[in-house]
Amino acid sequence: MKKADLVIIGGGPAGLAAALGAYDAGIKDIILLERDGKLGGILNQCIHNGFGLHRFGEELTGPEYAWKYQQEIFKRNISFLLDTMVLNLSPDRIVTAVNSSDGVFQIQAKAVILAMGCRERSRGALNIPGMRPAGIYSAGTAQKLVNGKGYLPGKKVVILGSGDIGLIMARRMTLEGAQVKAVCEIMPYSGGLNRNIVQCLEDFQIPLKLSHTITQIHGKDRVCGVTVAKVNRSGKPIQGTGEFIECDTVLFSVGLIPENELAKEAGIRLDPVTGGAEVFENRETSFKGIFACGNVLHVHDLVDYVSEEAELAGRSAAKFILEKWKRDGETVTLKRGEGIRYLVPQKLHRESHEALKLYFRVTDVKRNVEIVLRDGKSLLYSKRHPKVAPGEMEYVILTPEIVSRLTNNCVLEMREKEQ
Ligand SMILES: Cc1cc2nc3c(=O)[nH]c(=O)nc-3n(C[C@H](O)[C@H](O)[C@H](O)COP(=O)(O)OP(=O)(O)OC[C@H]3O[C@@H](n4cnc5c(N)ncnc54)[C@H](O)[C@@H]3O)c2cc1C
Repeated sequence: MKKADLVIIGGGPAGLAAALGAYDAGIKDIILLERDGKLGGILNQCIHNGFGLHRFGEELTGPEYAWKYQQEIFKRNISFLLDTMVLNLSPDRIVTAVNSSDGVFQIQAKAVILAMGCRERSRGALNIPGMRPAGIYSAGTAQKLVNGKGYLPGKKVVILGSGDIGLIMARRMTLEGAQVKAVCEIMPYSGGLNRNIVQCLEDFQIPLKLSHTITQIHGKDRVCGVTVAKVNRSGKPIQGTGEFIECDTVLFSVGLIPENELAKEAGIRLDPVTGGAEVFENRETSFKGIFACGNVLHVHDLVDYVSEEAELAGRSAAKFILEKWKRDGETVTLKRGEGIRYLVPQKLHRESHEALKLYFRVTDVKRNVEIVLRDGKSLLYSKRHPKVAPGEMEYVILTPEIVSRLTNNCVLEMREKEQ
């Protein structure tokens, strides 16, 4: 069996930044395993700009952003294996992988970082009636076909789901000459970033049908249209509101799911809301020496935050390997209260003596709210937010002094401020 200080699973932006974080913190014996034929992950197919504004202060395309990180990997001579799929991870950090030159092989690692990203939820998960005609794609597959292979999947398009990938594909298909008839969203608000609603739909006069869903896909060999209906508050179609829209292509952009099969099989504790591992502030999972970061942990809206989190996971793995990290002492589990859908990290070591950046998403679009951290009735932190939306990841930064006062009774919640 091979040995390595650190094995990183996944060579997307999270895996790349984690490798740099660990290397710069003193770990040189790193192997990064990537199942694709190149590094960069999903960014390779995201040729639009808007990446890296926070990180580099400039607007990069996905491949440009990924390339910046790859160059740093090459400079440091960090080892990576491409076309290499990780099949299994054991709780004692044995990684089993396969590729065409080595066959199946194992690596015993001192620490492992999970950075496998996420995948798209499929049509099958939605149970939409209809045959199985050609012309139905996930938005990510269409993105790969258009941006990576130069194929246009269709000419008249309806998109279900207004998360960022759906919005970005509405613009991309339009720019490539297709007519996007509508973007339908079951919720009363878009799941995407505000800037994408403006730049991808409004600028191109593409209708966004909020509180609408596709109730039927028509066509036998090829899609010829969809029925779109209004939904009530519980997301159920309202009778008599159905409208036929002629189209030859339907794109689904109905959510991303962290690629956590390896973590699940290993027995790592997962958060039922994020679908990712439950982690401490250093991104260590419930298993000693196994860390997680990026979209495999929770779906991020901006890749900049993925890189930041992954560098932290890399530095933490380095501390663990160099035995600078004591995992003793009291741990605290934070609770999510009213209006908070999830928070990451879920747990922390109270005496970590460091400021804590706590990421969260809210359950609803609200204006003029206060995000509050309280321990019973006593208020530890509060901050006003002019607007929050489920599509935008939010965070609060807790000072070391607040961190030292956290207990298992602490709850993060959203309060609506009186006007
Ligand atoms: C279809 C799609 C389109 C997106 N478009 C945008 C966008 O336009 N803008 C934006 O900001 N964000 C976009 N995102 C979000 C984007 O994924 C993140 O910003 C960022 O790429 C996440 O980085 P990551 O490294 O966590 O995941 P990824 O970029 O997904 O990288 C994960 C890597 O892990 C590899 N991997 C997975 N499992 C294994 C295994 N078992 N063995 C070996 N390797 C493995 C994968 O091949 C992949 O290269 C998109 C996501 C998807 C799914």
